This record gives sequence, C-alpha cells and structure tokens, in this order.
Amino acid sequence: MSRVAYVNGQYVPHSQACVHIEDRGYQFADGVYEVCEIWNRNIVDERRHLDRLDRSLRELSIDAPMGRPALCLIMREVIRRNRVKNGLVYLQVTRGVAKRDHYFPAGDTPPALVVTARSTDPRAAEKAAETGCAVITVPENRWERVDIKSIGLLPNVLAKQKAKEQGAKEAWFVDRDGNVTEGGSTNAWIVTKEGALVTRPAEAGILRGITRQVVIELAAREGIKFEERPFTVEEAKSAREAFITAASTIVMPVVRIDDTVVANGYPGAISRMLREKFHEVSELESL
Ligand code: PLP
Repeated sequence: MSRVAYVNGQYVPHSQACVHIEDRGYQFADGVYEVCEIWNRNIVDERRHLDRLDRSLRELSIDAPMGRPALCLIMREVIRRNRVKNGLVYLQVTRGVAKRDHYFPAGDTPPALVVTARSTDPRAAEKAAETGCAVITVPENRWERVDIKSIGLLPNVLAKQKAKEQGAKEAWFVDRDGNVTEGGSTNAWIVTKEGALVTRPAEAGILRGITRQVVIELAAREGIKFEERPFTVEEAKSAREAFITAASTIVMPVVRIDDTVVANGYPGAISRMLREKFHEVSELESL
C-alpha cells in the first residue's frame, strides 16, 4: 500500500511529497514538530502534544497554521489514508516559504504544515523492550532552549549516530556538572537502590516530555517514590534500573551505560511495570 502525506493543503503520495527549497524549515531549521503514538487505533495524549506544539510555536513567534479542530481532522485523515493502527503521526510547522533572509518574512507569509503517519510493529517493539537497550554518554552541546521542540536537531543527530556506531540505541547528553540532561530523542530515568524513581526537573536542560509526564502520573498511582532531581552518570551506572521515555518508544529499559552493565543486565521490574501499564494512564482518543 502506498503512503500518503499532507503537505500545505493537499494529500499527496508520500514518494512525491515536496516542500519548496525556500521553506524556512529547509533553510534555517525555522520550525517545530510533534510526534504522537498511535496505539490500538487510538491517538495517545493528542491534547498534550498539541498544547506543547502551541507552546513551541508561541516561543518562536510562528503562527499556528490553523485551528486545533482542523489540525485534528488532518491528523486523522492522514492516519486513515495510511491505515495506521499502531504507529506514529508526525506534524511539522515551519515559518513558511520566503526569499532567504534571516529576518522573519512579511506577516502575511503563511506557516507551512506537513503531516505524515507510519505503521510500526508492536511485536518488534515488545521484543526490543524485553532485551532493553544500551546508551552512551556525550557532552551536552545543544542550545539552551531545548524546551522548544525545534526541528533543529543536528547535535541530536550526531549524538545518536555515534550511539549507533557503538552498538547503542541512544546517547545521553551530560552537562558540565556531570549530570545527565536527556537523550537525543528521549528523556532519561533511573531507579535508585532504594527503589525511588528519578528524573531531571523539566525547568532546565530538557524537553518536557509528554511520556515523562504520564510516567510521573503512573508512578504516583502505583505508589512509587518519585524524586525530580538531577542525577550523575556515575549514579546511573550504579542504579538498580535505568530507562528512557518518548512517544516513539514509551518506556524502554536501559541495560548498559557506556561500558557499564546496569544491575544484572536485564530490564528492571519498575521499568517493565511502567511500560505495561502506560496506556492505562495516557489519554486515548479513539480513531
Ligand atoms: N527529549 C527529546 C530531545 C526528544 O526529542 C523527545 C521526543 O522526541 C523526548 C525527550 C520525549 O518527548 P515525548 O515523551 O513527548 O515524546
């Protein structure tokens, strides 16, 4: 079955989907994006993702391409046309198409919108989670506004490629104090020897992950002690468990950090429980 994308007002075959060479996303990475999970014919946490999209747009003074109901309709149509039951829907908004010039274009330049969707294999994801994954650590080298979900992801791309070349799935950025900020496309977590769940505060140095927020709520429901504080690489390496979260992976256990095996090298009980129960707490919008 051929895939379909939405590009600036039209549904087009994915293989022919194009944006203009002077789209400011292409020229300057002047845009933002969101990714929502599609699970069992539901969009997961759509409201929160679209709230964060609005915030990212506001922080960069980019106009919303349309109202939320219209955007939700387009997302559903793209998902429907691609027959996605389990997978991801991707939205990207840029400051639009204009002559290449660093200054913002004229106020009547419409923002550009692209929406795509693709299926993923839930069984393959479960299998990967049963083994867990490895992460490497790299020095933090991103700009300070990582709270904005910007399409400018070059440091993330380079860090994740380095991870891949070393047989790992993710790279954890480490700040000057030796604390883990987050992964290239995920938030970072540990479970201490005392059984407390720890993740860095969202105020500085990380994207406020939607999956992160849902996991915090799930942990509260399950009566797990939660500490929102920075943690060092050394603390993570000697933790009882470690894991990463994102809409694209939900909860993925981490079993190795650089050359250090975490605990016994198998996904921990709390990570597994959080993954299993995640959709009991996330907001599900049926398709
Ligand atoms: N941190 C970064 C840098 C990300 O790119 C992402 C997701 O793409 C996340 C964290 C996790 O965010 P969410 O749970 O909203 O997918």
